[in-house]
Amino acid sequence: ERTASKIAAGEVVERPAMVIKELVENAIDAGATEIIVDIKKGGKSYIKVSDNGRGINYEDLSLVFERHATSKIRSIEDLYATASLGFRGEALASICAVSTVELITLREGENSGRKVQAAGGTIQKISEVGTSKGTTIIVNDLFYNTPARLKFLKSDMAEGRSITELMGFLALSHPEVTIKYSSDDKMIFHTQGKGSLVNAIFAVFDQNMVKGMYEISDRQDKLQLNGFISRFDYTKGTRAQQLLFVNGRYVKSDLIKEVIHMAYKPYMMNNRFPACVLFLEIPPSEIDVNIHPAKTEIKFHDDGLIKQFVFSALKKAFNLYDQ
Ligand code: ADP
Ligand code: MG
Repeated sequence: ERTASKIAAGEVVERPAMVIKELVENAIDAGATEIIVDIKKGGKSYIKVSDNGRGINYEDLSLVFERHATSKIRSIEDLYATASLGFRGEALASICAVSTVELITLREGENSGRKVQAAGGTIQKISEVGTSKGTTIIVNDLFYNTPARLKFLKSDMAEGRSITELMGFLALSHPEVTIKYSSDDKMIFHTQGKGSLVNAIFAVFDQNMVKGMYEISDRQDKLQLNGFISRFDYTKGTRAQQLLFVNGRYVKSDLIKEVIHMAYKPYMMNNRFPACVLFLEIPPSEIDVNIHPAKTEIKFHDDGLIKQFVFSALKKAFNLYDQ
């Protein structure tokens, strides 16, 4: 049974960034207004997510670490409704199956906290602890018991970069939550949680980049593009700092990255990438989104139209400012 759960979990938990995505989304679901994320070695050796949400129900504690225990699927309708989540109520169990987990939680209305220690999908100990409101989960040594998975991971730096990218989009999609994110004991960003997207952009991105960012705002028929893009003299941009939201949802698109590059290239200094946050609105009938939880790749039905529209919107924005 444990082997089965290990194999099944291995199929879902692919990378440290996925672990963080699930843990942060749980914290948001729990009504947290503050979330602290710390990682070490690109999340491979250590991931800690703390929140000030309502805490986990103590009766569920032993269940949330077991696969299938918290599955919300009770009907065919549920199955369709949860298809996009991939984990179907088993994220914690899937993570626990391939790591060493320590969880501390104080459930709303309870006087004392609970600490759960688990490894490889098995709970070792549940004890009473003093703690403050919310939940903290520490995931150590991801894939320690699945060497093939571990080998498949990229370098600490590359895994760290994709976590930073993910944290950026989480922060930008939840400007109402204070998010503190650090990596190897270095604070990467700290958002204010005041609900302002501009504040969140300031926090997530480098200050020099935000200063004098070009604003983009254009529409054409049923397409609309808004956002910000870094100045041409900003030389620290990376492709990971090109965030795209389509209809309010964070997605990846090689096509859009290519268009950004094309539009920006004539002005580009030192061969660097611009950093940007773009919000594209498009009729849902014009797109396909791969709903696998790890991949948010978007495909447009009419690549040519999107290319032309985004290119001209960027050019227009550039022409509004002195180059
Ligand atoms: P799902 O989120 O799909 O239900 P998870 O495995 O991610 O599945 O979490 C299982 C359950 O544990 C959640 O439904 C929730 O009740 C509880 N839980 C997990 N993380 C937290 C948290 N940070 N705060 C409060 N409850 C949590
Ligand atoms: Mg969850």
